Amino acid sequence: MQKGPVVIIGAGPAGLTAAYVLSKAGVQSIVLEKDQMPGGIARTVNYKDYYFDIGGHRFFTKVKSVEDIWKEVLGEDLLRRNRLSRIYYNKKFFYYPLRPLNALLGLGIWNSILIFFSYLMAQLFPSKEEESFEQWVSNRFGKRLFKIFFKTYTEKVWGIPCDEISAEWAGQRVKGLSLMTALKNAILKSQSRQKDKKEVIKTLIDEFDYPKFGPGMMWQAMVESIKGKGSDVCLGKNVEGIRWSGNKIVALEVKQNGQMELVHGKDFISSMPIREALQKFKPEVPKEVLVAANDLKYRDFLTIALIINKPALFPDTWVYIHDSEVKVGRIQNFKNWSPFMVPDPNKTCLGLEYFCFEGDDLWNMPDEELIELGKKELESLGLVNRNDVEDGTVVRMPKAYPVYDSTYRKSLDVVRQFLEKIDNLQLVGRNGMHKYNNQDHSMLTAMLSAENILGANHDLWAVNVEQEYHEEMKIEPSEEAVLDKILPSVFSRMDPLGLATAIGSVVGLLIFTATLWLVMRGGPASFYLKLLNQFFIGYTVTLKGAFIGLAYGFSWGFLCGWLIAYLRNFIIAFYIYRIKRKVELLTFRDFLDHF
Ligand SMILES: Cc1cc2nc3c(=O)[nH]c(=O)nc-3n(C[C@H](O)[C@H](O)[C@H](O)COP(=O)(O)OP(=O)(O)OC[C@H]3O[C@@H](n4cnc5c(N)ncnc54)[C@H](O)[C@@H]3O)c2cc1C
Repeated sequence: MQKGPVVIIGAGPAGLTAAYVLSKAGVQSIVLEKDQMPGGIARTVNYKDYYFDIGGHRFFTKVKSVEDIWKEVLGEDLLRRNRLSRIYYNKKFFYYPLRPLNALLGLGIWNSILIFFSYLMAQLFPSKEEESFEQWVSNRFGKRLFKIFFKTYTEKVWGIPCDEISAEWAGQRVKGLSLMTALKNAILKSQSRQKDKKEVIKTLIDEFDYPKFGPGMMWQAMVESIKGKGSDVCLGKNVEGIRWSGNKIVALEVKQNGQMELVHGKDFISSMPIREALQKFKPEVPKEVLVAANDLKYRDFLTIALIINKPALFPDTWVYIHDSEVKVGRIQNFKNWSPFMVPDPNKTCLGLEYFCFEGDDLWNMPDEELIELGKKELESLGLVNRNDVEDGTVVRMPKAYPVYDSTYRKSLDVVRQFLEKIDNLQLVGRNGMHKYNNQDHSMLTAMLSAENILGANHDLWAVNVEQEYHEEMKIEPSEEAVLDKILPSVFSRMDPLGLATAIGSVVGLLIFTATLWLVMRGGPASFYLKLLNQFFIGYTVTLKGAFIGLAYGFSWGFLCGWLIAYLRNFIIAFYIYRIKRKVELLTFRDFLDHF
């Protein structure tokens, strides 16, 4: 069934995937890309046959349909690579997550002792407020470790002090995983399943797929496949206006080489930054929607690629730079991503990554000065002698990161509510949805948007970046049903007063009836019951004694009941706290990977 033409904005991973899926289903589309090359943020730049990425793009996913596309498009050219990415601090390499011996040797005994005590202090006297990122991390790792391994790097990435970054940002990965799921998992941890899970996690962390000549190879192959099926990918076409009327997009105003043209379509998919898209609506969107769109912010990024006259420098695929004296945040070693990225085996190509804001001093610095800065910083870090750097180039990438600040969610909701009324436009991808999507989730949203055009009814906003963590914690449905019934009662709080009164009443009444029964039988008093007066002063096997026994029994029973409930609640609360912390650390394990 021919449903086209579909007009797609952006030839990044998302836009191309939408066109690819549609073309396979026989639906024609036209992709409009403002740049002269496909791939968006995930492009590969070719500088004198040295290939480098904007960042370094691992292909790793738990979404099978996305992985299938990668394999289908590149086949043998998708290489399986080992990953090594360490933290570089104080001229030493550290593994992350930290390994005790490596950390001890790298930080020195004295520093390690101080770190241990600072961790202990954080556990014993955590900061009561957990509003900032700084408080959130310090409470879990201690202030000293926070300063060494989180503060400098996070501030380089976001450009604001850690005490101004909300704790919600650190916690949101953790929040995605419910405590209930974690509890179920802790209870059901069978050895074999834990082993399987560890293998999967280890594989995802230690290995990744990577195209022989970088991700650009994937996007180029996709372009060819899309064109081969009769659709079009037009480079150098900037969407400058989005004409709409009622609940429909009518046409796009597209500029190329100073010439404006109108592109009409039935369905539209946009992967361009959501803020820009809303700014381009003609007529203008309602004021409150525009204000909300303008509130969405981005962090920008530039890469200085340097060619070094050395066959090898360090074994890492990339290195996180935690020293505060240099501005560089991360260094990619592209030859270790794929040996094919460098044309001469005697040379190495490093990508020095700087996080910045479009228009700030770093962004505006001339390329030659940036290359000088790169050389200077590499030398001061002790990684490369500046005389070994023989060439370099600079690539600036605006809007590399959608910013999750304190107002973005509210603003995004306003924008979404407005866009929901436009029924022939779907937003996909990373900046297209202002979501911290990696390539896989960017592509997934695009695949689903294409399926919607083919007749499905997916909610693209339901694609969950945290999905993978739920999957790590997957539980068999039958076990889950049983646990769903049992867990709420097992882990709910016990009422100490209730239990105390119940046990007190039962014990008191038992002594009272037993005493009364012996008194009524009139026989010799039970030896054992009589012994009670050694503990209950004044107790005798008489009518009066029955009441005294009742009072004693109630009091002791009450006390024991209260203690049992209190202790049980304490142990359960401690257990839940431990599980919560374990889950937090588990999801925080790949914290550095998310920049
Ligand atoms: C430093 C860094 C490292 C990363 N590392 C990884 C990684 O290791 N693994 C991973 O999976 N993901 C990684 N990502 C994320 C990945 O880059 C994104 O998920 C992916 O590029 C998003 O694809 P997209 O198509 O949604 O958006 P984009 O890549 O942003 O593509 C959007 C396209 O729209 C075009 N466009 C914008 N405006 C217009 C307009 N007006 N008219 C026409 N075209 C327009 C742009 O030029 C661009 O080509 C990384 C990101 C960064 C910043």
